[in-house]
Amino acid sequence: MTLYRCFGLLVGALLSSHSLHAQATPLDVLILHGRVVDGTGAPERRADVGVRGDRIVFVGDAARSGMRARRTIDATGLVVAPGFIDPHTHTLEDLSSAERRSNVPYLMQGVTTVVTNNDGGGAVDVGGTLDRWTRDGIGTNAALYVPQGSVRRAVMGMSDAAPSPAQLDAMRAIVGRGMAAGALGLSTGLYYAPGSYATTNEVVALARVAAASGGIYDSHMRDESSYTIGLLGSVNEVLRIARDADIPVHISHIKALGADVWGQSDTVIALVRSARAAGLRVTADQYPYLASGTSVGASLLPRWAEAGGRDSLRARIADAPTHARLVAEMERNLVRRGGAPSLLITSTADTTIRGRTLAEVAAARHLSPVEAALEIVQAGDAGVASFNMKESDLRKFMVEPWVMTGSDGSDGHPRKYGSFPRKLRQYVLDTRLLTLPQAIHASSQLPAETLQLPDRGVLAPGWFADVIVFDPATVADRATYVSPRELAVGMRYVLVNGRIAVDRGAYAGALAGRALRHADTARAARPAPAR
Ligand SMILES: [Zn+2]
Repeated sequence: MTLYRCFGLLVGALLSSHSLHAQATPLDVLILHGRVVDGTGAPERRADVGVRGDRIVFVGDAARSGMRARRTIDATGLVVAPGFIDPHTHTLEDLSSAERRSNVPYLMQGVTTVVTNNDGGGAVDVGGTLDRWTRDGIGTNAALYVPQGSVRRAVMGMSDAAPSPAQLDAMRAIVGRGMAAGALGLSTGLYYAPGSYATTNEVVALARVAAASGGIYDSHMRDESSYTIGLLGSVNEVLRIARDADIPVHISHIKALGADVWGQSDTVIALVRSARAAGLRVTADQYPYLASGTSVGASLLPRWAEAGGRDSLRARIADAPTHARLVAEMERNLVRRGGAPSLLITSTADTTIRGRTLAEVAAARHLSPVEAALEIVQAGDAGVASFNMKESDLRKFMVEPWVMTGSDGSDGHPRKYGSFPRKLRQYVLDTRLLTLPQAIHASSQLPAETLQLPDRGVLAPGWFADVIVFDPATVADRATYVSPRELAVGMRYVLVNGRIAVDRGAYAGALAGRALRHADTARAARPAPAR
């Protein structure tokens, strides 16, 4: 740097003048006259937003400050906000695929950062996955959990046994490697096999490893309904893990699933509120739909039937006494799910059943619904939309200040393409359950702080330029249960790390996302505590 330039910078700093710098170097992008909602929950204000490189460098009156830019966007009448952060997706395969790594279904919702490896499932090799994304490019930022179910499967297969001390050590080592490579924490899907075969103590042992690296614990709980320990028992299990492992905990896609537990949202909220008041760090995410997305097998089979894997399952189905016990339990599970008309087959290679309810498939095959379900499972299983939630529970959860937006996006369910705009459309703009600043906070700063993503989730100078510009008059989801892959509408511009990924409402071809690593990864690793 020349003496002259040093002097110029010094004068600029002394005058504390933005305009000197601005006139010297044009900004890369200047978004003018928008309704800025900054993600903190503060009321909206009229302001211009300037971006240079990958950062927001200016929020204010651009004309008065003499700002110029290479690209100017007129945002008159449009909302300008921090890009949304989705704490729960199933985008591992998409981001790793040459055709789908742009992550357009999320960009068109205004989502600029996704987290995956949720529900305890996904890539055990966290470092390798992040490195590959960095090398090949991805359309949104993305971060990973270490997935407990996959860790258990890597060490113990589909066994439902307790781990030996050596096996537990092997699992702890995999979690430690994932955390060292930059995972955000440990995810579990204690409802699903083989994650479900872990006791609470086994989970605590692994969560302690994540806690030692500053990670969080994210859980699809053991039971969101009345299958085993019940919804309230599952919330209490999460809270026990928070205490015993001394770790922040996060409840995935919070809900009350099935008629047995409808109305228990009040008690769940009371449990979480009192835990938070006692100092535990507890949060949750939620998608704005009344149907969950799962598979025929996961929704109806008891977990003991899956122990040992697919061949063991086939043997149990073929064995008459076991078959009878299986059918009896599946009948009860079907009642929990609201009966065969409440299960809509959404994704399967078998076009004769896609778009039909289990009741319709059973009638066409002259079988009972459970026998039809067993046929579907044996043929390779199928995705279902399971209509099992009540609007009143959904709304009670949504207004809690610790509940953020999450898609849990998976193929065959519209939430992958619609969650964020749908929440804005239905619960802010149409019914005013939340204010716009509240809904945007729940989709930006709240997840950024929960996941410990530095410099993201707020629209302010110095923060990463993940910025969205949308039209509140038109923003909406278009995906439905019948047609779940319709892109959302209303996002006019989406910037990811300062680059324009959505331009005038269309994907612009950029792979501007980054593989994000946990904030503490660089920090010297503390020794993991003894079991
Ligand atoms: Zn889940």
